[in-house]
Amino acid sequence: MIFNRHAEPAAACRLVGAVLIAGMLMVAGMGGCAPQARIVPSGPPADFQPHSSEFRGLAADVARASSRRTLDIGFAADGRPLAVEVFGSGPWTVLVLGGIHGDETRSVEVARFLSDHLAVNSEAVAGKTVAVLVNANPTGAANRTRTNARGVDLNRNFPASNWRPGTAGRRDSPGPAPASEPETQSILRAIELLRPACIISLHTASREGACNNFDGPAEGLARLMAAQNGYPVLVNIGHPTPGSLGSWAGIDRGIAVLTLELPENRPAAECWQRNRGALLDVISADVPAPEAVVRPLQGGRSLTDRVPDPL
Ligand SMILES: [Zn+2]
Repeated sequence: MIFNRHAEPAAACRLVGAVLIAGMLMVAGMGGCAPQARIVPSGPPADFQPHSSEFRGLAADVARASSRRTLDIGFAADGRPLAVEVFGSGPWTVLVLGGIHGDETRSVEVARFLSDHLAVNSEAVAGKTVAVLVNANPTGAANRTRTNARGVDLNRNFPASNWRPGTAGRRDSPGPAPASEPETQSILRAIELLRPACIISLHTASREGACNNFDGPAEGLARLMAAQNGYPVLVNIGHPTPGSLGSWAGIDRGIAVLTLELPENRPAAECWQRNRGALLDVISADVPAPEAVVRPLQGGRSLTDRVPDPL
């Protein structure tokens, strides 16, 4: 069953019942009790058996309705966990990243808005796979710094052909080597696991700097976004970005990369409303995914070697 506003009434009632049952079981579980059927009058019949085939069917409905799975992809440099939230299932796969620059808090907030929206609007991901890394640089977000705990700008740390050494201590320090940072490695791992045809990286800029920047085969998608959010489409953001995600994934690997610069001085809810349609349009674009976009990483060694099967 697909949970959407067009669902038939009977199906919707069935789903509501399933949610109630799931909630009751969660409460029972929190109390350390086995999830036996202690049914309240508003729930299903008193002879309802929680392990019956009917229950399994209802539980599956709940899972499909929320459809949020978690994919652990690694850790930040100081050990904070990094997890991608995955919705839907289908060949058109979009990966959305918030907060790769830790001090760009609006980007994390809008990623959270998107994730919460997808969790309750399964029709938005019908036949598609959408993965959201809400907070790609949790240490930077906690400390209100652009960089990670080791002072590295993660968006200059990707193993792109244009990566170049820089000066430690600068806010755009690229790190001691390409992909030296655990956060960068985690994002690379997510890309290798999910094989997205499109990546949307959320950033913030001054109000005048809000734009739909793109790398790789993403101009059409950038224009799709522009039609919704009204921001300009830019292939060049005005300064070089060696070692950026766009350089590595977009230019070197041919993945459609959209860098959405949100206006940093506007409230998060306003940013979400302004960009909700843009993000959902890209998710529903359903451009055929290019085959084998992701090639083995340097030396032919796969980063997934260290990762158990997540899905
Ligand atoms: Zn940024």
